[in-house]
Amino acid sequence: MEGDEVMSEPQPAAASKSASIEEKQYLLRFNADTQSHLHVMDTEVCMTSCPDKICTIFCPAEVYKWEDIRMHVGYEGCHECGSCRIGCPHQNIKWVYPKGGHGIVFRLG
Ligand code: SF4
Ligand code: SF4
Repeated sequence: MEGDEVMSEPQPAAASKSASIEEKQYLLRFNADTQSHLHVMDTEVCMTSCPDKICTIFCPAEVYKWEDIRMHVGYEGCHECGSCRIGCPHQNIKWVYPKGGHGIVFRLG
């Protein structure tokens, strides 16, 4: 209709440049417990039945490191994504959340 004012919708702010993994990880802090919340239950299974040691690949925080005949579990840096709970092909990882007040802390900005 003539004379009608056209109301414009508010425009979203310009998309910010996406942050790199390193920039995102800078926002993470950890309040590690003294005891691990992650346990590889049977190292023998890792040694004999898991040639690719796939947890050392899919864990985004590189918590699992295979050292000759044992698995080192750097639980202090766990992102609590839960992938190892379902990703181990032998259900050989016992995964629970860290005790209250411990674990990952996200800083926003
Ligand atoms: S994925 Fe499971 S079985 Fe394989 S190395 Fe890791 S903990 Fe062991
Ligand atoms: S929960 Fe995620 S970050 Fe933590 S050990 Fe498992 S795969 Fe790695």
